[in-house]
Amino acid sequence: MIKAKKSLGQNFLIDRNILKIISEVTSIKDKIVLEIGPGTGNLTSFILKKKPKQFIVIEKDNDLASNIAEIFKDQLKIINEDVLNIDENSLSTEKITVFGNLPYNISTEILSRWIINLKNDFWFDRLVLMFQKEVADRIIANFNSSYYGRLTILSNWKLNIEKICDIKPDSFSPKPKIDSSLLVFSPKENFFRINDPKNLEKITRVFFNHRRKMIKKPYNQLFNGNQKVLEKLKINLNLRPQNLNFETYYKLTNEFENLGD
Ligand code: SAM
Repeated sequence: MIKAKKSLGQNFLIDRNILKIISEVTSIKDKIVLEIGPGTGNLTSFILKKKPKQFIVIEKDNDLASNIAEIFKDQLKIINEDVLNIDENSLSTEKITVFGNLPYNISTEILSRWIINLKNDFWFDRLVLMFQKEVADRIIANFNSSYYGRLTILSNWKLNIEKICDIKPDSFSPKPKIDSSLLVFSPKENFFRINDPKNLEKITRVFFNHRRKMIKKPYNQLFNGNQKVLEKLKINLNLRPQNLNFETYYKLTNEFENLGD
């Protein structure tokens, strides 16, 4: 009998309708598939039915990793590791389709790391990921809304994002206290060029540090009051951080990188 560990965010999906929806959200026949945190293997079984060419799973929990090794034998390549210690760019030479009912405590960290580490050539063709609904709402928010923020701007930089459905606590065992949402991410063909994504992180961190205040102070802190950038990007310093659209943040990062040229 497997006892769920709270510290590893273990809420196992048991709703067969939802498992079916997730496994059918994108075609994976003859593709390389990666599942983050297969847990007791519920989603794993559904994915296997779709006949991927290779199926890699990353599971941190030693007990669960040996359990699925026993259940699925040589159908899986099991990496018994913390996903945050894995170099995702070196997993395969082919593009990977990724699935994950992510452990909630590290879901934003995983997504942010993957985006920041992205090379020009994407290592995945789709990310099919489940988040707590409140985090998903932040990822898909629009500007001028209260959910819009750093995670929205980073996620939408290089990725198209589609929300598939919300999932109620009843679909899991043990039941979490919150609703979840399923999102699908695919690479954008055209995205704004930024030299170092850490600069985008920095700009958004400083701007959203006081989200109710005008952007005058963070702007002056980062750009030393530079008027030319303000005029070029038509930025009004009396606005609040959530009033600047995505592109303005990407352009601001670009200008920040060119300061002093
Ligand atoms: N995919 C399964 C399902 O849907 O039933 C389990 C999902 S459960 C929310 C999260 C899974 O991620 C657990 O199996 C947990 O042990 C694993 N996990 C937690 N932290 C992890 C980490 N840092 N690296 C890899 N796996 C992790």
